[in-house]
Amino acid sequence: MTHQTTCCYCGVGCGIVVKQEANGRLTVEGDKQHPSNKGMLCSKGMNLHYTVMDQSDRLLYPQMRLNRNMPMQRVSWDAALERTAAVFRTFIQKYGPDSVAFYVSGQCLTEEYYLVNKLIKGFIGSNNIDTNSRLCMSSAVVGYKLSLGEDSVPVCYDDIEEADVFLVQGANPAWCHPIIWRRIEAHKAANPNVKIICVDPRKTDTARSSDLHLPIRPGTDIVLNNAIGRLLIENGDIDVDFITNHADGFTAYSEQVMQRTLDEAAEICGINADGIRQAADWIGRSKGFLSLWTMGLNQSVIGVNKNLALINLHLITGRIGKPGNGPFSLTGQPNAMGGRETGGLANVLPAHRDVTNAAHRAEVEAFWNSPVKIASKPGLTATEMFEALGNTSLKAIWIINTNPLVSMPDVNAVEKALKNARFVVVQDVSSRADTVQFADVVLPAAAWLEKEGTMTNAERRIAHLPKVLDAPGEALPDSEIIWRFARKMGFGDAFPYENTSEVYDEYAQLTAGTNVDITGVNYALLKEKRTIQWPYRKGEGRKEGREEGTKRLFTDHTFYTPNGRAQIHAVPDENTSEPTDADFPLVLTTGRIRDQWHTMTKTGRVAKLNQHSPQPFLQIHPDDARARNIEEGQLIEVRGRRGEVRVKAQLTDDVRPGLCFLPMHWGKVLSGKSGESNLNRANNLTNALVDPRSKEPDFKFSAVEVVPFSKP
Ligand code: SF4
Repeated sequence: MTHQTTCCYCGVGCGIVVKQEANGRLTVEGDKQHPSNKGMLCSKGMNLHYTVMDQSDRLLYPQMRLNRNMPMQRVSWDAALERTAAVFRTFIQKYGPDSVAFYVSGQCLTEEYYLVNKLIKGFIGSNNIDTNSRLCMSSAVVGYKLSLGEDSVPVCYDDIEEADVFLVQGANPAWCHPIIWRRIEAHKAANPNVKIICVDPRKTDTARSSDLHLPIRPGTDIVLNNAIGRLLIENGDIDVDFITNHADGFTAYSEQVMQRTLDEAAEICGINADGIRQAADWIGRSKGFLSLWTMGLNQSVIGVNKNLALINLHLITGRIGKPGNGPFSLTGQPNAMGGRETGGLANVLPAHRDVTNAAHRAEVEAFWNSPVKIASKPGLTATEMFEALGNTSLKAIWIINTNPLVSMPDVNAVEKALKNARFVVVQDVSSRADTVQFADVVLPAAAWLEKEGTMTNAERRIAHLPKVLDAPGEALPDSEIIWRFARKMGFGDAFPYENTSEVYDEYAQLTAGTNVDITGVNYALLKEKRTIQWPYRKGEGRKEGREEGTKRLFTDHTFYTPNGRAQIHAVPDENTSEPTDADFPLVLTTGRIRDQWHTMTKTGRVAKLNQHSPQPFLQIHPDDARARNIEEGQLIEVRGRRGEVRVKAQLTDDVRPGLCFLPMHWGKVLSGKSGESNLNRANNLTNALVDPRSKEPDFKFSAVEVVPFSKP
């Protein structure tokens, strides 16, 4: 038997064909018919079947304990959900609806996001739902909203083959979005005039394969992009017609970018002015200008402004809404986009509605027939949730398919909060999720291939994922866990579902008339067409050229802002990250390595993937190492204001002097020891500073010192 599905790792959303042999053995290969990957898969996708075939660490049965000193006991689903409902009800009655929260994941399917959102916002009466996608793309969400009027990625992967200049900034797609990178490389190989500009303080594989690498100082992206903007204006490479007819804010922007000379900008960025001139020249002469970015811009205390400074380059040149042109934020997780659509963030409602908008709340309340008013105040965001848990204003948290004990910034504070929390529910596939150790109730969830639903990839492409296998033990699909719980809470009339198709149909109806309208999409159509890009309104498939949905947005240059015009924002360029000083003089940046995914709960189980980089390491420049008597491979201690990490040193000029890099994947359980083993966690060192508008943490900039480690 063969089944068409979608990779559950990153936001590229590659199509996968799963083959199931009579003996139950599974193999996977890239789906040649899938428009995103055209048959290609990266190392993670190619080994995905091993994560399903190895059931050794699966959570198989619901478990709970009455207090943290007791061992976990296997219980029935009814017992686990009844206890959870009783605890939630008690807290809600005693402390109000904001005393409980759900922390979900970009790994969750759209239907799961929709159900949790409906339950807490429409029935419990709190907006306390946030997602680990807050840690990866919320700055892009706000950037799009402020400049284009809504959280709407205007481009598609087919724009890659139409572009002739790529600006890859704060991203390493060669490792983190490999199939997109392969498409870019293949396009460049066939078209030698194509230019790739990579902006990254690190010399990554992406940087090595680019025509121009601008290794800027961390935190200076806005200075660089404003300098490029100034050159575009001075060179006459702006689109005056577009600016006049379709954009606001150019005058203020122009005044802002003229405040720094090119030499001054180059000095601040720590690069040669010629590189900035070259970048501006290529962008100015391009026919198709595509910019790609991820965490280097988003995970910053000035992440929204970094996004705006980049989007500005498209708006002043009119390079948006036409083939090969536009700003393209790549999503880290497979369904970060689907979560955004359904309102799976503390400040939004389904179909990009806003919790602070009374008309939006009224529409959703009426649709859900909510017994409570949807709260007008945004709920707790990811970092706020764990802070509130730590100070006990939040009494209960339900964590679904994410591992905050490794992935959150300032993770020692998160560990303390979870240890002291009144009530923690962990719903997950694997006991490798470090957070399980602090759970009061553990709910076993079905994994990839074991449940049905949909996801939306980074280019707004919706795909259906079929159920191929039965889940082991008593594990249940996440959607079913949520609707069973909602019934235990007394909301059975509003959660009557028997399958996820019904959930999807309901969600699709709620999008009617919005810019995310998917009223024309249902499971039957997705199975027939394989994928569809939103928006896709009812009856749309009958229109010529609309059969597969919407490739590009804003093709008529009418934007989703109230006046229909794009907004160019003059943004300040100062970085407000944690300052370095004499005690902590180095900047630490964290990120991914090629073959691991997030906190390794899946990829860490695949021997082939572990071979690439079996141990965590710190990359440090040889000059900085020499000044500290550190040699290649030596055990070192990285010290910060919130904790420390012990790993081996890797001396390389792939990082700038003054900068260190630490992979973000390792956590306590995978290191296989207790006690010291959490000294692998990069997030012992990161800080909980967030962008004030997106609430996305500043993972890319923490002050540290590095010293040789010797056992006391
Ligand atoms: Fe999966 Fe992303 Fe690799 Fe595609 S690029 S196979 S979606 S991990």
